[in-house]
Parts: sequence; C-alpha cells; structure tokens
Amino acid sequence: MFSKILVANRGEIALRVIRACRELGIQTVAVYSVADRDASYISLADESVCIGPAEAAESYLNIPRIISAAEITNVEAIYPGYGFLAENSHFAEVCRDCKIEFIGPSPEAMRLLGDKVEARKLAIKAKVPVVPGSEDALETEDAAASYAAEIGYPVILKAAAGGGGRGMRIAHNEMSLRVAFHSAQNEARSAFGNADVFIEKYLEMARHVEVQILADKAGNVVHLWERDCSLQRRHQKLIEESPSPSIDDKVREELTKAAIRVIKAAKYVNAGTVEFLLDKNNKFYFGEVNTRIQVEHPVTEMVTGTDLVQWQLRIASGEQLKLRQKDIKRQGVAIECRINAEDPYNNFSPSPGPIKEFIAPGGLGVRLDTHAHAGYVISPYYDSMIGKLIVHKPTRVEAIACMKRALQEFKIGPVKSTIPICLEILSHPQYVKGNVDTGFIERTW
Ligand code: ADP
Repeated sequence: MFSKILVANRGEIALRVIRACRELGIQTVAVYSVADRDASYISLADESVCIGPAEAAESYLNIPRIISAAEITNVEAIYPGYGFLAENSHFAEVCRDCKIEFIGPSPEAMRLLGDKVEARKLAIKAKVPVVPGSEDALETEDAAASYAAEIGYPVILKAAAGGGGRGMRIAHNEMSLRVAFHSAQNEARSAFGNADVFIEKYLEMARHVEVQILADKAGNVVHLWERDCSLQRRHQKLIEESPSPSIDDKVREELTKAAIRVIKAAKYVNAGTVEFLLDKNNKFYFGEVNTRIQVEHPVTEMVTGTDLVQWQLRIASGEQLKLRQKDIKRQGVAIECRINAEDPYNNFSPSPGPIKEFIAPGGLGVRLDTHAHAGYVISPYYDSMIGKLIVHKPTRVEAIACMKRALQEFKIGPVKSTIPICLEILSHPQYVKGNVDTGFIERTW
C-alpha cells in the first residue's frame, strides 16, 4: 500500500479521500487554491500546498503546479476525485511519465472511454445495445439533418467530448436541429476544446440506471449493483438511490452483465461506472462510462458495505480484489440527496456566500458527506455542491421517511440550498411509487 498520496481535488471529495487514507494509515497531501485557504478539511491532511489563485485553470486544473506539489512532497500517487482533472487522460499520462501512480484507469482506457463516439463503438463490439445514433461525429448541418430524418425526431445532439450534462441539445424537428447544431458545436468547442458533435435518438420518459464496477490490475472485474439516477435537472443528477426501484432482477442481471462486458473490452482498471438509459419498456441502452469515482458512490457503499475509495487506493497500489462476485450482497435501500448552494425556485441559480447557520442532521441510518459548516464561505469559483446527505434503511418506505426527517433537521442559511426541493420531490406520489424519469423535475417544477 502507498505510504503517502496527494489529493488533487477540493471540497467534500477531498475530505472523503483524506478520511479513507487516515483509516488505511496513508499520509495525505492536500492542495488548495487561495480561495480555499481557510477550508477546515485541509488541516486533516498531513501536509498541504497552495497551488495558485482561485481560478480553477490556475490551480485545480493546472497540471504543472499539481505535479510540482507532488514532487516537492514526495508522494507515490495522486488521487483525482471527480471533476477537474479526474477524466483528463493527458494528466494521467503526465503522472505516469513522472513515475507517480494515477489512482484511476490507464490513460489509454480513459481516452477511449472519454470519447463518446469511440465508447459507443466499443459497446457495440461488446454486444451491448446503444441508443440508435450516428456512428461518427457529424461535420455539417446538412449531414446532421439527413441523419436525423433517417432515425426520426426527437433527437439529441451531444458533444463527443462532453460531460456534466453540458453540450447537449434536444431537437424536435429539422428547423430546431439546424439551429441547435451550431450552438452545440460552439459550446462543445469552448467547453471541451473539441467541436465534434453526434446525434442520438432522444429517448422520451427515459430512466438513468448505472452499474458500479471495480476492476483490478490482474483482470478481475466485479460489479456492485446499480444506482438509479433518474432524478435530474438540466441532465444533472439531484437524487440517487440503490437499488433501482424500477427494474426487476432479470433486467438487473442483464444490465450488470453488459456493464462487465464493456469494462473488460476497455481493459479498464480501478473503480468505474457504466451508465445506461432505459426506455418505457425497460429496454436498456449503453450511455457512457465514467472513468472515476462518482458523486453518488455512497449509496452503493451503504447497500454493499464496501468502501469504494479504499478499494481505489488498494487497486492502484497493486492489490488484487478479494471481493468475489457471489459475496457482494445488497442490503436495504440507500438514497442520496445532493445539497447544492442553489436556489431551486429561481432556476437553480448558484447561491454562494458565507454560511451562518448550519445544523447537521444525524441519527440511525444517516450519513452526511460535507466539508461545509457554520462559518464556511461558499466560493463562487467552483461547483455549487456543498454536501451529500445519504440514508440507509431496510426498506424504501423507511428510507424515504428517514430522508425526509433528516432534510427537515438540516438547516443551512442564509445561502439557499436544494433542501426544500428535495423534500418536495420525496413527498411526491410519483417518486414514492418509484415512477420517475429524467424529465420529471423539469415537468413538475
Ligand atoms: P454527460 O456526460 O454530460 O453526463 P450523458 O451522456 O451521461 O452526458 O447524459 C446525461 C443525461 O442526459 C442522461 O442521464 C439523460 O438524462 C440525458 N440523455 C443523454 N442521452 C440521451 C438520449 N439519447 N435520450 C434521452 N436522454 C438522454
């Protein structure tokens, strides 16, 4: 096992990793931007290094500065978390060149799976169904229009290099497609540095179900069941749960098997997630692979009793998976609500600033992963997620009741948060029935 690693991230995921390392006896180096100088979780790391100003490009996204920090502090490995450099294959390559272990998959696997067009081809090769869509990126508006006419509207335009719900446009007819094509290309170019855009059939009333995978360097691959992430706003997840309330064991088995086939075909190592979309008839289609830890990993940890971040560290250090598929059991139901500093009643606009009141929920079955507290100042420079509230109970009915009372206990002010909208969603009869799709929040609120 490593003796010292650097955590190339911030906020709740940095704290999550520091916790995992402390339990494993691994020393940690935290890096921080000037905006995060006073964040209290930094003092839990053994060492810390300021890597630059608040702008992410000058700090958390700045590869030379992070590598310098790693070299000065003499770490053996770097943990990327999610966001920032977590899916940057060039960064993984630089780590390799500098003989620092990148705690994640190989740069080759990341590059392959990070391109949605290439990932689709790989899924087809692994005999996993994909949403009908263009085989390659579409270069012109006319090519896009004629392809869309072939598969039929509605269609969704997606950036090949996309992520985080950005760069997607839905078109219901040729006119809107032609307009959307250019804005999708422009957004893709400015957000991801790659203007490639492709088209998929837009699945209406779709559900998002994803499979958690662990794969070691010896080629052992296991799944840790699924998470249902259908509750999204603007294609970004808000509430996740495991198991999925909307699939049966037959679909579950097919999904998990398909996920393992994709992971094996990519020669993937470390923790990863294979995302699927399901249509009204529970027919499933490959979406993409996230080559990192997911925000929503705690729901899987709760139902399987497995520390996924510790496994990432173990796998990267060369340890083989001791978990056998037949021993990975699920117990009960876990639900996660993302607590974002946003105003849900004003189009989820960010609500940064100082937190004056912060009363955390607790009690049996409640887990709170957050770096925030009273006196913490939410920076406008970064993602608005300030924490994740997770509950674990024997049944879904009990889990919903537990989450509702935990959300009611949770007081954050004066910044606005997603707590009230999460409470409304959890009380909605459609949610209680487990009958929601990715458009539910936008249609209902
Ligand atoms: P990102 O990498 O930006 O997260 P994904 O490809 O994972 O993008 O898609 C994110 C979300 O967008 C999905 O969970 C789903 O809600 C929606 N989406 C993507 N593709 C389709 C599709 N073909 N039909 C319907 N919804 C889609």
